[in-house]
Amino acid sequence: MNEKLEVLSQEQSAIIFKKLNEKGVVNACPMCRKGTFTIVDGFLTPLLNKDLRDAATLHGTKHMFPSIGLVCVNCGFTSTHSLLHLDLMHLFEK
Ligand SMILES: [Zn+2]
Repeated sequence: MNEKLEVLSQEQSAIIFKKLNEKGVVNACPMCRKGTFTIVDGFLTPLLNKDLRDAATLHGTKHMFPSIGLVCVNCGFTSTHSLLHLDLMHLFEK
């Protein structure tokens, strides 16, 4: 787990790791088999596009996929986890 977080609180980070652990996510990198994961200190918001032409559009309505990321401290492999599917959106709604 990160020692210093600026966007996510330590409590939010701990809740996310607890939920991922409950879902069976392991903290060992499947790519390098050496590293462990730390949380990305911010939100990943991949855009959902109806077709590939939308992917290059800078203007207009965007549909986001709010997620958090885990990154391997050794090789940088990053996994993305949907906050909606983890039922964790409430952590960040004000
Ligand atoms: Zn790795």
